[in-house]
Amino acid sequence: MLKRTDPYVPGEQLEGQILKLNTNENPYPPSPSVLNAISNEMKHNLQLYPSPTVEQLREVIARASNTSLKKENVFIGNGSDEVLAFSFMAFFEPGKTIRFPEVTYSFYPVYSKLFNISYEEISLNRDFTIPVERFFQSEGGVIFPNPNAPTSLFLSINKIEEIVQQNQDNVVIIDEAYIDFAQESAVSLLNKYDNLLIIQTTSKSRSLAGLRVGYALGHPDLIEGLTRIKDSFNSYTIDRLAIAGAQAAFEDKDYHQETIEKILKTREWVSIELKQLGFQVLPSQANFLFVSHYSLSAKSLYQALKLENILVRHFNKAPIDNYLRITIGKDNDMMELMKTIAK
Ligand code: PMP
Repeated sequence: MLKRTDPYVPGEQLEGQILKLNTNENPYPPSPSVLNAISNEMKHNLQLYPSPTVEQLREVIARASNTSLKKENVFIGNGSDEVLAFSFMAFFEPGKTIRFPEVTYSFYPVYSKLFNISYEEISLNRDFTIPVERFFQSEGGVIFPNPNAPTSLFLSINKIEEIVQQNQDNVVIIDEAYIDFAQESAVSLLNKYDNLLIIQTTSKSRSLAGLRVGYALGHPDLIEGLTRIKDSFNSYTIDRLAIAGAQAAFEDKDYHQETIEKILKTREWVSIELKQLGFQVLPSQANFLFVSHYSLSAKSLYQALKLENILVRHFNKAPIDNYLRITIGKDNDMMELMKTIAK
C-alpha cells in the first residue's frame, strides 16, 4: 500500500508585481517556433488523441542529445518530476536502501517514502561537493542531480563514471535538469553502461516549465521498464500541445544556444557583484546561484527582499539554512536585485 507522506512543497508562486527568482524558471520566453507549432496544433488537431508512444518527439530528442542515441533510448513524461516518480517505481525496490545526498532535490525523499523505499542521505563535503566514494556499492541504487540543486555544483563526468562502475547491479540515476548551463552531460557514458539513467527536462534551458515535458535517456531495457510503469497509469504520455511545442523547441537549436549564453553571461557578472557585496558565491554551473552573506542571515535577507517584492528561495533546514538560492533572471531583474540588496 502507498504510504501517506508529507508531500513536496514547491517554491512560492505569488501573483502580481513580483520579481520571481525562487523556482529556477527561465526568464526568457520559449522560441517563437514553439508558439507557432502549438497554435497550429490547436487549430487543426485537438480533436485527435496524441500518439501514445510519442515516437517522433523521442526521435528528435535522441538526435539532439547524442548522435548514437535512438528513440528506443528515450522515455518521455509529464515533466521530469513524473519521470522521476516512474523511475523510483521501476528501479528502486522496497527493502534495498538507496543513496542520495543530504542536500539535494527535495522530491527524492518524498518519492522514497511514498513508494516505501528506504534511503540513506549522504552528507556532502564541507564545501558542498559530492563525496564520490560514499556512493560506491549502494544496496539499492543512487540518485542525484548534476549540477546538484540547490548547491549549483557540477560533478565531473569521470566521477559520475566511477559511481556508475561501482554500482553495476543497481541503477544510477543522474538528474540533469540544469545540465545545459554546465560543462558536459553524462550522455556520452550511455553507450558504455546499461545501468545509467539520465533524466532531463525542457523546463529550464528551453523555457517550457509550463508545458511539462521531461524525459529519460538510457539503455532500451531501462526505457522499457519505465514504459511498462507508465502504461499502467495512462494510455497517453503527454498531450498534443506539449508534443508539438517540445518538438519545435528541440528543432530551434540557435534560439536554445542564444538563451543559454545570455543566462551564463548574466550569471558571471552577478556572481562577481554579489561577492563584492559580501557574499560567498558557490561556483555555479546552473541557472541559479547558491549564496551566503558574511554578516546578514539568509532568513532576514529573504524576508527583507520579499518586502521589496523580490522572491528568492530560502531553505529552513540545516546545514543550508544560512544560504539563499537565487535564480538568474534577465540583466534588468538582476540589477534591481543588486540595488535592493545594497540598500
Ligand atoms: N530535478 C531537479 C533537480 C529540479 O530542480 C527540478 C525543478 N524543480 C526538477 C527535477 C523537475 O523539473 P520538471 O518537472 O519541471 O521537469
